[in-house]
Parts: sequence; structure tokens; C-alpha cells
Amino acid sequence: MAVVQARNITVAFGAVKVIEELDIDIREGEFIVLLGPSGCGKSTLLNCIAGLQEIADGQIWIGDNNVTWAEPADRGIGMVFQSYALYPRMTVRENLSFGLRMSKMAKAEIEKRVARAAGILKIENLLDRRPSELSGGQRQRVAIGRALVRDVDVFLFDEPLSNLDAKLRTELRVEIKKLHQDLTSTMIYVTHDQIEALTLADRIAVLNKGNIQQFASPKEIYARPNTKFVASFVGSPSMNFLKGALTADEGGLTFVTRTNQMIDLNGYATNGAVAGRREVELGLRPEQLSVGAAGPARVMGEISVIEPMGADALIWFRIGDDTLSVRVPSEAGLNIGESIELSFDPAVVSVFDAASGERV
Ligand code: ADP
Ligand code: MG
Repeated sequence: MAVVQARNITVAFGAVKVIEELDIDIREGEFIVLLGPSGCGKSTLLNCIAGLQEIADGQIWIGDNNVTWAEPADRGIGMVFQSYALYPRMTVRENLSFGLRMSKMAKAEIEKRVARAAGILKIENLLDRRPSELSGGQRQRVAIGRALVRDVDVFLFDEPLSNLDAKLRTELRVEIKKLHQDLTSTMIYVTHDQIEALTLADRIAVLNKGNIQQFASPKEIYARPNTKFVASFVGSPSMNFLKGALTADEGGLTFVTRTNQMIDLNGYATNGAVAGRREVELGLRPEQLSVGAAGPARVMGEISVIEPMGADALIWFRIGDDTLSVRVPSEAGLNIGESIELSFDPAVVSVFDAASGERV
């Protein structure tokens, strides 16, 4: 277990700075997910911590050590890549023990560690096979095992499940979560998959263009996204955005749609004081809306599409030029073309400034 800190990190490729003055503080034993779209700098940041990427400025600390200039092998980290990176000619046992044999560890100790890792990862019966004789999920277990045998303080994962099919991905995701519960090591996990982030993380750092947009618990990220970017990246089906204006006066908060419907937003907790009128986007998750006038805030919409989804259904509404999806238990009694009232609780929704995208 160890604290991991990146302080004021800047990374440049030629003249292009892909990460600029980034800070992140990771607590001992935490499971942190770095989440963001392709190209936002997740792998670059992870590689900085691993020592595989040179930094232009800043410091990296692991535990009590400033490891900014330390070799990857001296940082007390184990890394697991999307591509497994196993030695094809070696058996599983040889792959697992390779690093330890290179460091001249005693044979008995190596055997003990390999047996322990194989037990944890349930690959005992595969030890004499070569990687070509393994499934993708089994190969990734071996790759994790290689980090496990080294007894590291910090595990770094870079999209380890991306090459697996959906079912295996879910299975191995649960295994990784169990592994963290058992080992209590610090884990930093990179993914572009918001479901992986929400299910695995103690805290998620959402990255966009090399910046951390929000660093908080999955619950907080989901319920109170800081920016429209975070709001639209996390959640499936995604959050709806209704363009309009927020007005604040003696009557309290009102959202005015582009079709001039007035929605009472009293109960919404703004980040700071708001006065007058400003252009905003009202963020509503499909499950925060209900059909009928049950909630305190109400808006009329016309049904445009009905999507049955098995357990429930997604109903798409048109409000002028905006569309809104609503999750309902059943599509029974709803018809395309019909105009009906929708309602929600202002306390749970999000409002973003139209220009900056920041939470209001
Ligand atoms: P992610 O892992 O989030 O998909 P990366 O950290 O791999 O993103 O890349 C971040 C940005 O840095 C991207 O714009 C990518 O094109 C750029 N980049 C990454 N590695 C290099 C490199 N070796 N040379 C030049 N640009 C790079
Ligand atoms: Mg990457």
C-alpha cells in the first residue's frame, strides 16, 4: 500500500503539451480510475507514474519517495497492459517467474509466490501452457499475475479488459474488484468505459484534454457532475440537455425552455449565488424524469420514439428543437405523437452554464 502523488506534472510531445500542471493525490489503498475519451492523456499520466514517460516538469511521489527520476523497476509498481505483453515462448509458470528469476530471488521463494498468485487468479491448472494455448481472459489473468508475484505496493492497469468480449470483461472486472478487496493495494486503473469506472472505483478522475475535470466518488460524479463534459461522459443512457435560460427573482428559480415553457426549479441547489437571467442547459438523466405530474417541476413534451429495453423502456420526447429521453417501467398506454406532461424533482438535476459548461 502506498500514497501516490503527482505534483504539477507537465508532459510535452515536441511543442504540444498533452498534460499541463496536473496534480493528483491518491490515498493509500485506494482504487482510482482515470476515465476519459481516447486521446485525453490517461495512458500518458499512468506512464508518468510508472516511469515509462518522461515529464517536462513536476514531481511524482510514491509512498515517502520522490520517484521522479527513478527507474520503473525501482518504483514498487506493477503494470498490466491491454495487450497482455506475455512472452510467447514461455509457459505461464515461466512468464510469472521471469522477473523474479532475473532479480536472482531464491528458487523456493519464487515457487511460493507463483503458487500464491496462481491460486488467487485461479490459473493453477494453466501453469504449463503457453500463451497461445490460453483464452484472452486467461492471458490477462497471467498478466495480472506477473504484477502480483512482485508484491508491489501500487498496481497500474491500462485498459486491461478492452481486448475481451463483453461477458469476459464483466467477469474479470468482478475479479479485479475482489483482488483489490483482498490485497488492499493502491490501484490506478485507466479506462474509457464509464461502467468500469462506476463499478470499480473508490474515486474517479475524469480527464478531458489532459485536465482533470472532476475527482470524486462515483456517486458524486454521477449525481453532481461539475461540468457538462463529465455529465455527458458518465451515465447510460446519457443525460439529456435542455437548452434555455435560468432566471432568479423573488419567486425563486425558474427554467425557461426555448419554447417558453416555464419550469419551477425551486429546490435546485446552485453552486453559488445566481441573479437575473443566464443561458444554461438543464441536465436531466432519463431515470430522473417520470411520465405524469408526480414531481414538482413539470414540462410538456411530444412522444417521438418508443424504445423497449427489456426490463423497462426509453421514451423519446420532443420539446421544440430539444429531445429528451425518459426511462419508464413500461411503454403501455404511450403513443407516438401524443403530448403529455413530464415531471422531475429539481433537487436531483444539473444546470450548466451554456458558455462555459460549468455547473451553476
Ligand atoms: P489516452 O490513453 O487517454 O487515449 P494518450 O495518453 O495515449 O491518451 O495520449 C494523449 C495525447 O498525447 C494524444 O493526443 C496522443 O496523440 C498524444 N501522444 C501520445 N503519445 C505520443 C507520442 N509518443 N508522440 C506524440 N504524441 C503522443
Ligand atoms: Mg490509452
